Amino acid sequence: MSSKVIVTIFGASGDLAKRKLYPSLFRLYKSGNLSKHFAVIGTARRPWSKEYFESVVVEAIADLADSPEQAQEFASHFYYQSHDVQDTEHYIELRKLQNQLNEQYQAEHNKLFFLSMAPQFFGTIAKHLKSENIVDGKGFERLIVEKPFGTDLATASQLNEELLAAFDEEQIFRIDHYLGKEMIQSIFAIRFANLLFENIWNRDYIDNVQITFAEKLGVEERGGYYDQSGALRDMVQNHTLQLLSLLAMDKPKSFSKEDIRAEKVKVFERLVQPDKDDFIRGQYKSGTVKGKKYISYRSEPNVNPDSMTETFASGAFFVNSERFRDVPFFFRTGKRLTEKGTLVNIVFKQMESIFGEELAPNVLTIHIQPTEGFSLSMNGKEVGERFSLAPLSLDYRTDATASGASPDPYEKLIFDVLNNDSTNFSHWDEVRSSWELIDQIEELWRSNEVPLHEYPVGSMGPDASFELLREFGADWQWSPNK
Ligand code: NAP
Repeated sequence: MSSKVIVTIFGASGDLAKRKLYPSLFRLYKSGNLSKHFAVIGTARRPWSKEYFESVVVEAIADLADSPEQAQEFASHFYYQSHDVQDTEHYIELRKLQNQLNEQYQAEHNKLFFLSMAPQFFGTIAKHLKSENIVDGKGFERLIVEKPFGTDLATASQLNEELLAAFDEEQIFRIDHYLGKEMIQSIFAIRFANLLFENIWNRDYIDNVQITFAEKLGVEERGGYYDQSGALRDMVQNHTLQLLSLLAMDKPKSFSKEDIRAEKVKVFERLVQPDKDDFIRGQYKSGTVKGKKYISYRSEPNVNPDSMTETFASGAFFVNSERFRDVPFFFRTGKRLTEKGTLVNIVFKQMESIFGEELAPNVLTIHIQPTEGFSLSMNGKEVGERFSLAPLSLDYRTDATASGASPDPYEKLIFDVLNNDSTNFSHWDEVRSSWELIDQIEELWRSNEVPLHEYPVGSMGPDASFELLREFGADWQWSPNK
């Protein structure tokens, strides 16, 4: 890995930069993955001085630094340039600063650009980086872009074209912060390092897969953005389908980024055309949970009072592969649900019983958030004289995030970019295929052929989501509302 690099952050005064990027860069610095040969250029419109920028960085890492001296030494690597991304003149100044810091820090012309601002600016930034010769072909040049990557296939394709005018696909790293999560990366280990699962990870043994991304919060202050987006675009196009691809892919020839990507892309390409009856949308209504009143989605600030935007989406995807043909991959995601939690349940087929009583299926649960780990539910003998069966669970939970052993997803992902490892980023082929699919569902929803179900706050979504599974002879395994 080359730790010699000048990192330029567009949107350096923003929320993401302060909450995630500065702490992640600091952890990389503390662990020696960034050496003295690195500097960060922060840009945004507001006119900050270097001193003020340093103080912002110091504050952002206050809880992580061993001493004020260490925090200050780290912050001394940060430089600020006030910059409107639409203004060509400023890129000339940016190039001068880039060249000066490259000399000063002996960064061997390596450059990393992090676009931490609204996506409508991505194209103009990429264009200027190229036309003003900041991207000059010397050293490595990598671009990290934040989600959302487009709002449909047309806008995503246009954005991609704009980026490709300045960077090659291999230089573009599309962030999906869920792919930086420890347990998502552990799926490879669980699947491919255990004979127990490796041999039964297919349609002969797996009945269905259930992916849940549940949030307890409502839209909070993001109503303006969310009302244009909705659950399907915000959570399903990216996180859900990326996770599905890791669960459904065939074993890659090797652990190389090329082989993993090839298998992931195959899953995206084999996703079955959506059937309107397989997708449910919902919106939360007002209600009271434990004596506390909550307003409806339509009453949230910056939300259209007649909004038809879904705050809940659920459905069944199918992958037309030898391995998983006809196996439903159920998903649900929503706001104002019972509990916050991201998890996957792999439900194995029901065994024929020789014991005279019905057996519960084995379920492998992968806990992603807020706890990490996995558990396997099994049937065992109940303690006592009589032979009767009882469910038991093998649990492995880590509290790695709390103990600091599990890196923050952004730390992991920036580390990967420095290593030129794109395994945990979304390739354009994946993004394109996922938008193709999501656009079709959006189309069905826009034509209002599919009802928008209301659901009470504090529930796990509309009844229709439960009925959908029942039609497939299944039940949601995780029911925190029961
Ligand atoms: P934010 O707080 O609104 O920050 C936006 C940044 O862009 C600010 O630094 C702003 O600074 C700068 N900016 C706006 N217009 C500009 C212009 N014309 N020229 C130069 N700078 C300009 O947004 P954020 O929450 O940090 O999010 C950044 C990106 O990350 C977005 O794409 C968002 O969707 C994505 N994201 C954020 C989070 C999160 O947790 N925050 C999570 C996932 C994805 P000035 O006003 O000083 O110009």
